[in-house]
Amino acid sequence: RKLQKFFPIKTGLFGKVTGNVHAVDGVSFSIRKGETLALVGESGCGKSTVGRSILRLFDLTSGEVLLDGVRIDSLSAGALRPLRKRIQVIFQDPFSSLNPRMRVHDIIAEPIRNFGLCQSEQEIEERVAKLLEKVRLSKDAGARWPHEFSGGQRQRICIARALAAEPDLIICDEAVSALDVSVKAQIVNLLQDLQKELGLALLFISHDLAIVEHMTHRVAVMYLGKIVELADRKELFSNPQHPYTVALLSAVPVPDPQKKTNRIVLQGDVPSPVKRPSGCHFHTRCPDAFARCKTEEPKQTMLGSGRMVACHLREN
Ligand code: SF4
Ligand code: MG
Repeated sequence: RKLQKFFPIKTGLFGKVTGNVHAVDGVSFSIRKGETLALVGESGCGKSTVGRSILRLFDLTSGEVLLDGVRIDSLSAGALRPLRKRIQVIFQDPFSSLNPRMRVHDIIAEPIRNFGLCQSEQEIEERVAKLLEKVRLSKDAGARWPHEFSGGQRQRICIARALAAEPDLIICDEAVSALDVSVKAQIVNLLQDLQKELGLALLFISHDLAIVEHMTHRVAVMYLGKIVELADRKELFSNPQHPYTVALLSAVPVPDPQKKTNRIVLQGDVPSPVKRPSGCHFHTRCPDAFARCKTEEPKQTMLGSGRMVACHLREN
């Protein structure tokens, strides 16, 4: 709720604060059990910062993170400990997120030990074997080292490690972005199967709209630290309401060569999150911008069926 994360910019010998990177500014959403919510947007829009704030990898500037109605953003490390296992993460790079000096078995067993989920070594053995099976790796994978596996297989190991903690929510931060297309599809299908089987909630952070259209229930589109549109996947892809969403979707390649698409090319780069444009932050690149957009920030407008759009053209 209303997540805000500013990173101070320090310069000079005494680290004087000369400005802020406004990474996330007023982001609110919820994810239900068994639901996948995608966070999309160009790089630098604040998607990963949202994920990291939920994981409590740093303190928020302001806002609240609730897990089953309990505020976890303000808990002490000790009070947070028992809740930590309920939120796990899978990062983009399966090469750097696995300890090269640990065998796969120990990598997966680590969270089981840390969170005290099994009583005996034999129980741990059995649990690791089950997890390897769940992510469709062979039994003997446990005895091997991370470097013996391909990118897709390593990502399976990361998924097994995340599942080992028996989480309710998994944050996938560009979890399939570095993989080859065919491998990508396998990992996405695996995540979907596991989600159905275990009732997991997934926060799927991605800039890959083709994958997002394939696997999510709802989509939140971010621009310069804010959610500009949040909607059911089908509604968003078939009838985007925010000019930024329209432009993003127009850039997704369409497999059918007969189908004509009017690609909207946005002018210029994403402005700096240090000095954001006034009014609607998108006004410097928006094809539909008009005078008011420069001075007045658009309100978050609800359009029914839980859809939210922040654009003056959609205000009622
Ligand atoms: Fe474009 Fe104005 Fe809407 Fe912003 S408020 S998206 S600048 S039309
Ligand atoms: Mg990122």
